[in-house]
Amino acid sequence: MLMNTKILVVEDEKDISSLISYNLSKEGFEVSVSSDGEDALRIIRKEKFSLIILDLMLPGIQGMELCKTLKSSEETSLIPIIMLTAKSDELDKVLGLEMGADDYITKPFSPRELIARVRAVLRRTQEKPAAEKILKIGDLEINSDTYQVSKRGLPVKLSATGFKLLLYLVRKKGRVFDREMLLNAVWKNEAYVEPRTVDVHIRRLREQIEDDHSHPLYIKTRRGIGYYVDGEL
Ligand code: CA
Repeated sequence: MLMNTKILVVEDEKDISSLISYNLSKEGFEVSVSSDGEDALRIIRKEKFSLIILDLMLPGIQGMELCKTLKSSEETSLIPIIMLTAKSDELDKVLGLEMGADDYITKPFSPRELIARVRAVLRRTQEKPAAEKILKIGDLEINSDTYQVSKRGLPVKLSATGFKLLLYLVRKKGRVFDREMLLNAVWKNEAYVEPRTVDVHIRRLREQIEDDHSHPLYIKTRRGIGYYVDGEL
């Protein structure tokens, strides 16, 4: 799996990008480094990467803007992005509608945490679901081959994690899952994900697929337990 797994690190602080690049290379990943947003965009449009590690604070195009650009462009929207943030309270913004990153790492971080996160995100996004290709539920159509979702024929752009989460809940519709179960299923026992991350992703999913996200039709809440997709849909 590690063969030809190319990772781009976008970070202007040399000692941090060297630390990341050293540790990823040691694990067998092929690593490219870029120190500013514009340069990164140019590289990403030329080469294929399996993952991007993107710092929030960059000269030129900011990390936030770059993340949004990548997630809203068809060719790059499925490349998983791990954001480096200085403060954990930026979490909502980073994983939310505004940016749509797949995960985040708060500085300072240990090489062990970095590697664990990278592996978990790659595992999550590279796994190909085996079952039916197109699932229809209400006005939604979910294609598990192309990772595309449409609603009433119009494309809905989800992050790789958002897609996984939706697909999982739809495939097991009618069953209620608590946060822990969803973490195990979608985040695959990743050591550093908090249950709150599930809520952030559910909220974002609702904002994207529901007509009225405060009265969800697709992803329902079972108070005190967790989330489910209505089995009657
Ligand atoms: Ca920086």
